[in-house]
Amino acid sequence: MKLFKNQKLTLYNSFSKKKEIFTPIHEGFIGMYVCGPTVYSNVHLGNCRTFLSFDLVFRYLKHLGYKVRYVRNITDAGHLENDADSGEDRIAKKARIEKIEPMEVAQNYTIDFHQTMEKFNALPPSIEPTATGHIIEQIGIIQEILKNGFAYEKNGSVYFDVLKFNETHHYGKLSGRNLEDMIANSRELEGQSDKKNPQDFALWKKAEPQHIMRWPSPWSDGFPGWHLECTAMSTKYLGEHFDIHGGGMDLKFPHHECEIAQSEAFCNQNPVNYWMHANMLTLNGQKMAKSTGNNILPNEIFTGDNTILSKPFSPTVTKFFMYQAHYRSILDFSSDALEATEKGYNRMMEAFKNLNSLSTGKESTMDIAAWKQSCYDAMNDDFNSPILIAQLFEAAKFINSVKDGKASITPSDLEVLKTAIHSFVFDVLGLQEESISNTNSTKLSDTITLLIRLRKEARENKDFATSDKIRDELAAIGIHLKDGKDGTTFSL
Ligand code: AMP
Ligand code: ZN
Repeated sequence: MKLFKNQKLTLYNSFSKKKEIFTPIHEGFIGMYVCGPTVYSNVHLGNCRTFLSFDLVFRYLKHLGYKVRYVRNITDAGHLENDADSGEDRIAKKARIEKIEPMEVAQNYTIDFHQTMEKFNALPPSIEPTATGHIIEQIGIIQEILKNGFAYEKNGSVYFDVLKFNETHHYGKLSGRNLEDMIANSRELEGQSDKKNPQDFALWKKAEPQHIMRWPSPWSDGFPGWHLECTAMSTKYLGEHFDIHGGGMDLKFPHHECEIAQSEAFCNQNPVNYWMHANMLTLNGQKMAKSTGNNILPNEIFTGDNTILSKPFSPTVTKFFMYQAHYRSILDFSSDALEATEKGYNRMMEAFKNLNSLSTGKESTMDIAAWKQSCYDAMNDDFNSPILIAQLFEAAKFINSVKDGKASITPSDLEVLKTAIHSFVFDVLGLQEESISNTNSTKLSDTITLLIRLRKEARENKDFATSDKIRDELAAIGIHLKDGKDGTTFSL
């Protein structure tokens, strides 16, 4: 029997702002769409947090026995610098600066994204469509919206008429805004804007002569508006009405609000049953973002080549750090937090390694069935990974007690425990078996820390020959010391 028949999943629906019992449209099947990256630069760890949050959702739904079609797009056109339809296309801008083709920009960063996701052991989505591969579908939707009277054409561009739409629908229902407030708080349109109202958003933009990314359409040679691609691709692969739509919290408005409006204007259908939004990863208390430079790249963490961390951390430890917070909570990134995570992770995995050599007894001093159900309860409660991880630590403690002869477990309970740990650690959390290399990595960093201390002592004694030798010989084997105001750190 499929697990989902007796594991009742509830999830927080950002649309109703409540936890709801999850019921798919078609029993046993789930359609899930998650907004993918805009491929104009390397994904930073903040982006990864959102994608890893949805990897956890995907993995758990599959674990429950659902057949999930997971669509995550690649935004390779249409995302302008400014969310209010102004500025250059982000990919075209990068292409202009680097003097390469936009397709080269998209290709470079799509590859980087895939490699990063692979390092984190995230599963690929079932379908990964691109915006540029769906121009025809986007034009088709614009034609329908125009026919239904919710858009207008001006000088070769087409805009969604938010005021008109709001006469019969509610624009703002996802983000909890209302149009009157938006109008009261908006600035006057600049004289040259083609929009009737500042709230209107572009469905199609006429390309300026210098704009390289352009396609023919009934209105002009131009390009689609950013919000439209997700409506086109989700509708094409999941239908006009599907189960789950996800993305980062910052996409709720305007992006997802506009997606709802487009679908309602196009096929009179609220497209999504459950909206899920992942919260932000912060650095120094501020949102990690490409635009501000307040971010860290995954590779900078894995190599230690950064100014934030004292040493390198593996993809699994980095991911474990993120899963120790619930996906709807803000999480701040720091060296201390990662160090604590690494210690905890190694401790837990060391305990799990003992599972195969554990002696069994006549009785179990821990209720294994109840423990296993509490792992499901955690995940059934809106994918609560921190509670699941706390339960895994409980199991690790118990395993160590059995090993020390202070607790006991029956052979059949041991089998249940082994299978459950394997499922939750590898299938659901998607952690990788790197406990041995992690332990070695801890030993390596302890050794380097010792050398850093000896070098410091040599310098204090003005023995610069020794201190330079330590630095140079470490560099020769690829370990680079960096002297900073808070001491010396290293990268590999
Ligand atoms: P983008 O490539 O800018 O379209 O963003 C890709 C995804 O990363 C979106 O779902 C964003 O909401 C998400 N995202 C951006 N910054 C952060 C952050 N600091 N923490 C978590 N998710 C983020
Ligand atoms: Zn989207």
